Order: sequence, then C-alpha cells, then structure tokens
Amino acid sequence: MDEYYWPARNVAEYAYCPRLFYMMEVEGIHLANADTEKGNAVHKRVDKPSHESNGNGAADQVDINRPKVARSLVLTSEKYHLTATLDLAEIQGQTAVPVEYRKGRPQYATMSPPPDDPGESDDPPLAAASPWPTDRVQLGLQALLLEDAGYRVTRGVIYYAAEKRRLDVEIDDALRQEALSTLDAARNCSTGPRPPPLVHDSRCLRCSLQPICLPDEVAFAQKQDQSPRRIWPLRDDAIHLVAQQEGTRIGVRGQCLRVTDREGQLAREIPLSSMESLAIVGNVQLSTQALGVLADQEIPVAYMTSAGRLVAMIDPLDSVSALVRTSQVRRFDDPAAVLELSRVLIAAKITNQRTILMRNRSDLSSNVASDLMDLARKSMEAKKPDELRGFEGQAAAIYFGNFGPIFKESFAREFDTNGRQRRPPPDPVNCVLSFGYTMLTHECVSALRLARLEPTIGAFHVCRPGRPALALDLMEPFRPLVADSVAISSFNRGELVEGHFSKTAAGCAMTDSGRKAFFGAWGRRMDTEITHPVYGYRLSYRRMVMLHARMIAAWLVGDVDTLSFLTTR
Ligand code: SF4
Repeated sequence: MDEYYWPARNVAEYAYCPRLFYMMEVEGIHLANADTEKGNAVHKRVDKPSHESNGNGAADQVDINRPKVARSLVLTSEKYHLTATLDLAEIQGQTAVPVEYRKGRPQYATMSPPPDDPGESDDPPLAAASPWPTDRVQLGLQALLLEDAGYRVTRGVIYYAAEKRRLDVEIDDALRQEALSTLDAARNCSTGPRPPPLVHDSRCLRCSLQPICLPDEVAFAQKQDQSPRRIWPLRDDAIHLVAQQEGTRIGVRGQCLRVTDREGQLAREIPLSSMESLAIVGNVQLSTQALGVLADQEIPVAYMTSAGRLVAMIDPLDSVSALVRTSQVRRFDDPAAVLELSRVLIAAKITNQRTILMRNRSDLSSNVASDLMDLARKSMEAKKPDELRGFEGQAAAIYFGNFGPIFKESFAREFDTNGRQRRPPPDPVNCVLSFGYTMLTHECVSALRLARLEPTIGAFHVCRPGRPALALDLMEPFRPLVADSVAISSFNRGELVEGHFSKTAAGCAMTDSGRKAFFGAWGRRMDTEITHPVYGYRLSYRRMVMLHARMIAAWLVGDVDTLSFLTTR
C-alpha cells in the first residue's frame, strides 16, 4: 500500500515537464533561480496561516454572509493520496473557492512564456489571458482535495501578481479529469527512469533546474539538437570568498557576513545572497552562527591549512539524489565503465599539457609535442587501467621535464633541479602548483556535490578513506588549464616574487602576501571565459568545471552515452 501523499505542487510540475517533476519529486533536486525566488516572495506574503479569518484582520464571523478566508490551508486526501497547502481558500457555507497565487503573468494566446519584466510592454487584453497548464492542474488538484473534504467547488481563481490580475477558472469534469490524469501519469513516471529532456524548448529557458538537467547538451549528445543554447549565465557574479589573513574573524549579522581583521576592525561586509562559496585558509575564525547561516543558505565552506592542504569541507545536507548516487556506485563497479571514463579524462589532460607547453615554449622540440599527442591517442585506446596509468606517467615525465624553462631565471633553475615534488614542495613553483591543485580539488568537490555526485567514489583514482577520488578525476583535464596556468602567469607577470616565499626544513611555503597575490590570480583564472569546443558557447572556467561534473552525472544515469572533456588549442 502506497502511504505516500503526493504534493499537489510537485504533481502540477509534471504538466510543465515530466523531467522537472521527476528531478524535483523523485530525486529531491531543488535549485533557486530568480523566478523561484520571486515566487517564494509572493507566497511568503500570502502564506500567513489563518484559521478561517475574514481576511481583513477583523474578528471572525462578524457577518455570517461574508465569505471567510483561510490562508495556508493544509488539505490531505486518503482517497487520492494527495496533499496540498492552499495559498488561500474563500469559504462560504459548504462552498469553497481555491485561490492560487503566481508571481508572473498569465498565458496569452500569442505568447510563449512571459518575459521577465512585464512592465516593458502594454498589457494584452484581459480576454486573451488564460492560466498556464501547470496552474490549471494545480487548481484542479486543489479542487479535488476540497471536494474530498466535503466542500462544493465550482470555480477557482489564479492571481497573477505581475499584473495584479485574478483569472476565474471553471472547475468542471474536464479539469477534474485532467488533474487526475496528471496525478496518474506522475505516479507512473516516478517509478521509471528519469524522463528525457525537452528538445530545444522555450520552457527550459525559465526552468530553475536547467543547470542540472542540461537539456540542450543531453539532446546534442543524443543527436536530437544540433545547436545547444547556453542557457545558464556564462559566469557567476557571486562572491567566492577566500579568508586567509591570520587573525581574521568571520561572523554574521542579519543576512550579511562580517569580516573583521586581527585588530577587530570591520574589513568587509558581504550580503549572503551574493556569496557562492567560502574558503578558510589557516588561522581564521568562523563563528558557529556564521557556519549555521552559511549551511542554511547552501554555501559550501572549505577549510585549508596555510600550507594549502584541504582538510574539511562543509556543505548542505540535501545535496543528494538517490538516482545519481546509486548510478554512480553501480557504474563504478563496472571495470569497463571505469576505464571508459578514465580514458577520456587522461587523454584530455595530456592534450591540455601539450597545449600549455606549446603556448609557452616557442623553443619546444617538435618531438615533445608529437610524443604527447601520441600518448593522448594511446590513452584513448588503453585496454587496462595500469596501461593507462603508464601513459599518464610517461606524459607527466615529459610535461614536467619541459615545464621549468617556462619560468624566469631562478624559479626555472630550481624547478628544473627538483622536478615536480609535492611533499613537501621544495621550491616556489612546486609550492604554487601544489596550492593550485588543492584549490582545484576544492572547486571540483563543490561542483560534484552540486551535481549530486559523491566526490569520494572515483574512477581513475583509487578510493581511499577521505580521498576525494572523483574530484581528483574531474580535475585532471583542468590541472594544466587552470592550476598550471595560474602558476605560469603569476610568476611571469611578476605577481609572485622571491619575497613571497619562505623556505624551512618543512619545505617552501607562501607568505600571507604571497597567498593574497595567488588568490587574486586564481580568481581571475576561474572567471576567465573560454569557448566550449563541442557546444560552441562560452563559459568561465568555474562554470566549465561545473558543466563537466554535471555531464559525468548525466553519463552515470544514462542521459548520455559518451563523454568528452574540455580541451583547448
Ligand atoms: S530544463 Fe527543460 S527539460 Fe530540463 S527539467 Fe527544466 S523544463 Fe524540463
């Protein structure tokens, strides 16, 4: 016996798009966008519970002939296994009128989904307006619930806040049937696989789940769409805060983070609404209250040592999709799938290593470039993981063997003498490379979690306790393009100089001012926009990392059959 009560609001999403319903209801994925935030604001104004008040704050039942108004009315039906919180119901005797509030505009016969700013155009005539299918179905479901509770329902109202317009909707048998059919279809859908995306459909432009769903990219991979649109913004303008000055304290006041320096002076005040992530480096204090508010706002926090080791990440609890997680575990149990993903990751990494050397070494021997190209090709044909590891190791030896001369004078000499060394990094270039790889790990862990993937279960990198194996996988193609490029540009532009490093028996470390210069270069690189070689649209590197994390998720759940990773020329 199904004891689950279906939320009418989620069921109504099925009328908009079955895949949206599935991702919200079955996978529990919710993302806010400007539209959902506006919608929440409209509902907040309405959702002040009342128990059959008369709607104007006066005492109940002053006039028994006047309709009573019930706000945030919770109804549940055993008959339909359905539940809903009605924005508002006008009740007179045994007759009820459900009223649903919407932030936008109604549908017009000649219009596709409404523009963001309704004030831009003249109001279309009232007669042409009609409710959107999702709104009709939701009203129909609410009517069923009210009727099951003993009320008579012949009409409902949808209030479109953008136009301050009430649309009357007749509750007839056709609408009841439409609502019931949608409920049945949604129930059936929930027990099957994730539905395919809509193809090049205007509904996706306003859908909050678009960055997870990737409708055009999936349709492109399935050869149903030749020109994927870049629907999500090419970069996020939100703040990725790195706090690394010793003695810094971070607290919260209202909806702002307050950053104070070691003297207790206010250094920065940042609205939480404009924050995307926080990285704490070294001896920086973050208050419990601030941590709680950050978690509540789903802003991930990474803790790193001042030497650049990632020690902990805190992120919201609800970033889990059972479908994605179980698909990840199942597919990574299959050696063929593991090898398939590993091959494309390593081939892309070697291709990008070659690009970095060719861009930065005009004197590069043509043998080096062709050897790397050969290793990238062989990686795509590797029959076993160990064979692939061998190609990757050979490529790394060639790459780092030719990496030192990219840098100036003493930096080049030291790196050439030491080669690539991690624990501890013995010289400035190794130090910055290690710091960059840690930052990239943190970016990849965040991107994977946003894609509802488990970062510790990887393919090419062996799973070990606490090791973010999948993040290490995902970062492979980005190591040369992001971390190595930051090292090259920050040394060769003079942003990092000898004075930014201290050397002890424990290795080479950046000073506070060195880290500040590094994080400046890091932020600029992550915001740099590049063109995707397959989809043809531009995205920042940070968005590219997120896109590829989500494409791995799409591949794991079977949305796409093949994968490719970013390579540049
Ligand atoms: S982006 Fe498009 S296909 Fe994907 S859930 Fe939203 S409406 Fe459906």
